[in-house]
Amino acid sequence: MKTPTQTNAIEFDSAKLQRLGFGQQTPPIKQPVSLGQLRQQLGLLLQTSLEPQRILGLFFREVQRLVPLDALHYQYTPSDLRLEFGLRGHHSISYSLSHEGEPMGELTFRRRHRFSEAEQNYLESLLSTLLYPMRNALLYRAATRSALRDPLTDTGNRIAMDQTLLREIEMARRHLLPLSLLMLDIDHFKRINDSYGHSTGDEVLKAVAASIKKQLRNVDMVFRFGGEEFLILLSNTGREAAAMVGERLRHAAQTQEYWADGIQIELTVSLGCSTLLPGESAESLLRRADSALYVAKREGRNRLAMAG
Ligand code: GH3
Ligand code: MG
Ligand code: MG
Repeated sequence: MKTPTQTNAIEFDSAKLQRLGFGQQTPPIKQPVSLGQLRQQLGLLLQTSLEPQRILGLFFREVQRLVPLDALHYQYTPSDLRLEFGLRGHHSISYSLSHEGEPMGELTFRRRHRFSEAEQNYLESLLSTLLYPMRNALLYRAATRSALRDPLTDTGNRIAMDQTLLREIEMARRHLLPLSLLMLDIDHFKRINDSYGHSTGDEVLKAVAASIKKQLRNVDMVFRFGGEEFLILLSNTGREAAAMVGERLRHAAQTQEYWADGIQIELTVSLGCSTLLPGESAESLLRRADSALYVAKREGRNRLAMAG
């Protein structure tokens, strides 16, 4: 069945931004809410973060007080940002966001039931509350990103990984949510370098990183851990779900085609998976994923092993 898609463009410069009444102490109103109230509240709420994930998460949650949604999808290719909230829905409306001619990403609302004209108008009006928070978050992201990225594979580097891992462990503890970790290593990568040269090896590394990111909801959670090793953090993901993600990554790496000088290169990856235990440290969680990876290698490679 063809998915109905309505595509629109929002130019923030022409979107009328409502003046915010600062200084009044308004208690958080839950349901119901008028468009004006919601715009005002969003205007304040979305300024509280510089993280695109948090801003859009709040937007997704709050917008539903007026327009029920099943999912929100956001993509900003220049910064390699792709975020998804909720589940999928059949009907969708997409918006290309821009400000002063600068693209600011594509936003898609999804739902099982189609959107009425009134709802579409609400969404368009509410979108303007994203303008400054998202612009600031994207600028901040661009400024901090280069210090935290691995330039070859465009994944997070070790500094980013250490920071993110500690933050995610803290979050998992506080909210009693599961957290899993996948350690992925390319099988016999040395042979690829030896047979085709180092620069082909580099291309293969880039392709593997791209394949991993393509399979994941949140590309910010992929890190280059070592030469040909990647670490994937799976927040709010328990053991079984993490095993499924790991298997999907393994399969994707194996089925992707890699070419060098007209010759197809066969490639597989091995993975180790660990899930955070109560009171466990970052070092221990990493160590258990690494031990599981070692088991996957020892048992013949091209497989996933779960930490005990
Ligand atoms: P295994 O299946 O046991 O993982 O075997 P392997 O050959 O993949 O593992 P090993 O650790 O022996 O070799 C990893 C190789 O990765 C050796 C190193 O030269 C290569 N390597 C590390 N970083 C880079 C890089 O940035 N570019 C390229 N082209 N090669 C790299
Ligand atoms: Mg290897
Ligand atoms: Mg290795």
